Formats: sequence, structure tokens, C-alpha cells
Amino acid sequence: MTQTPVQPGIMDIALYVSGESRLPGRDDVLKLSSNENPLGCSPAAQEAFRAAAADLHRYPGTDHASLRAAIGQVHGLDPDRIICGVGSDEVLQFVVQAYAGPGDEVITTEHGFSMYPILARMVGATPVTVPEAERKVDVDAVLAAVTDRTRVVFIANPANPTGTMLGPDELQRLVDGLPPQVLFVHDGAYTEFADGFDGGAGLADRHPNVIMTRTFSKIHGLGGLRIGWGYASRAIIDVLNRIRQPFNLSNAQMAAAEAAIRDTAFTARCAQLNARMRDRMRQSLTQLGIGCDESFANFVLARFDSADIATAADAALRNEGILVRRVGGYGLPQALRITVGDEQGCTRVLDCLGRFMAGRRPE
Ligand SMILES: *Cc1c(COP(=O)(O)O)cnc(C)c1O
Repeated sequence: MTQTPVQPGIMDIALYVSGESRLPGRDDVLKLSSNENPLGCSPAAQEAFRAAAADLHRYPGTDHASLRAAIGQVHGLDPDRIICGVGSDEVLQFVVQAYAGPGDEVITTEHGFSMYPILARMVGATPVTVPEAERKVDVDAVLAAVTDRTRVVFIANPANPTGTMLGPDELQRLVDGLPPQVLFVHDGAYTEFADGFDGGAGLADRHPNVIMTRTFSKIHGLGGLRIGWGYASRAIIDVLNRIRQPFNLSNAQMAAAEAAIRDTAFTARCAQLNARMRDRMRQSLTQLGIGCDESFANFVLARFDSADIATAADAALRNEGILVRRVGGYGLPQALRITVGDEQGCTRVLDCLGRFMAGRRPE
């Protein structure tokens, strides 16, 4: 074994667990474990990806200008205040690398996205986990946890895995309550599924210490492509660009992402399907006696009466080739996170849970 000491925090990292994608001996697996798009990605993105094959010998551009221009155009944002990364995960990593280190605190919440504490430890900072109120971010609890060591606050809004959301007033109150040395990260991975929400762009316009992150992995159906972006003040973007590797994104990634974001008709179709199927999921789960908060994302959190029942429900689903996400690691052992599928996928999961719940009822 090497004698070279590992940097502080790194050995405390629990490896990220991703959604399962295979069940041995089954070729009809319905994967609802990673919040992927049931419609796939835009055909224009696939075409752009294929076309990029002709230029694989060329180094990509370092400034992502064309992609940033497209994002800026579609979302009405200043391209000079956008940074692109290998998934929004990389943008989140730039943030901790640039703004947190040993002795600093990084605030996340009880059921918050599991990447946040991993990122904090990656740079030797201390993750501080704040309780939520009924599976929703508690603004007062977050503000109460701030100390003079706090450097970054991470909130996903809509949140994963709860699907809940802070409204504009609560969000504003949170940001107004933070001292100026704290950077507020508004992770907008699920923005497009929350009708009419700007993802925190307005907040980033009004406050110099707010960054909004977004991804191509969810509504654009490009989780396999690995691309995301952030939007903040020029000063923050300038800092983050200094630690970004110049060639972090490939030609193929950028071309496909640009085609995807410009295909606004496809994006709208995905959002509409999701809204319709999400309503149906919540209504049906509730009718079956399974708890389900209103979700603003592309998944629902199904809550059972106990962790044992959730385990049995998961087994019943697996038995029929359906993979969902256990969320015990998020402090929700009695729940299952189920990605909203297409019509057929929702029918399959609801039929299975219907049989499961019927089998539990006393005669
Ligand atoms: C899926 C997800 C992301 C997106 O990650 P990528 O690296 O862009 O694939 C970010 N934050 C949350 C809360 C997510 O659920």
C-alpha cells in the first residue's frame, strides 16, 4: 500500500449508488429507477451526434460558444453568464472546488441529493445536513444552520427524491437570509417539469451569490451524454471557468446538446406527457392507499406504511421486471421513488402495485 496520505475527507466518501438497470434472466425490464425520459431524446440530437462522428480527430472548442448561445437563446439568458460541464454534476464540483475546503461547511438537507455530501467531502469540507419539514426543505432550519464557516448551500428545487418544491416567496426568503459569504446553489435538474418555473434564473439575476444549475439528463433525455450547465454572475462564471478543463466537453456532446435544446417542440411534448402521467400516478397511488405528495418533477415518491412493506412492494415490482429506486439512503426507507413512465409503463407499474396492495388486504 502506498504511504502517501490521502487528502482529508476522501476516505469518508460513500460511493454514489445509481439506479439499477438489469434484472438477471429478464429481457422485458421497465427501468424507472433513474428518472430517465420515457420518450428518449430528440431525433435531432441523435442526428447531430451521428454527424459529429466525422470530426472525431478534431479537438473540441474550449469556450462552448455555440452551445452557450443556443442555451441563452432558448432560455432568454446572457450566454456570457453560462458555463457547461460534464453533467451538472461537474458544474456542482466546480462550485465546491472553487468555494469550499477544509474547515468550511456545506449545507444540504435531510432528503437532499446524495451527490452534495460527496462533493463536500471531495474537497475536504464538512457536509452539514439540516432537517426537512414533511419531506420539504425547511427554510428556517437551513438559515439556522448557517455559521461563519458556511460557504455553500445546496438545494435541488424541485427536490430529488421527494419531488417537492419551494415556492418563489420561500426561495426568496432563503436567499435573503443568507450572509454574503455563502453561495446558494439552486439545482434545477427538474425545472422543466415544474410548469412556468424559471429554474432560479431570476434569483441568479438578482443575487451575486446564487448559481442555478441545469441538466440535459432529464427532460432532454441525454443522461448518457453527460452534459449540464450553470448560470450565475459573470464573476462566479469567471472563477469556475478557471478550474474547468479546457476540453471538458467533446464535439459530439456539444452538437447533440445544442440540437436537443433547440428542439423545443420535443421538450414541450415531454413535459406534457410527464404532467399527464404524473397526475395519473399520484391519483392511482392515493386510491390504492399509498402515500404520495404532489410532485413537481418526473418521478413520484410512493410512501408505504413501513420499510418492510416498501421492501415487499419493491420485490413484487422486480418480480414483474420493474425497477424503481429504494431511497433508504435518503432517510426514506418506507418509500420507493418511481420515475414517471409513458402510458404503458405507468399502467404496468400501477397494475402491479394494485395486485400487491390487494394481496395485503385482510379477507
Ligand atoms: C439527475 C440530477 C442531476 C443531474 O445530474 P447530471 O450530472 O446532469 O446528469 C442533478 N441534480 C439532481 C438533484 C438530480 O436528480
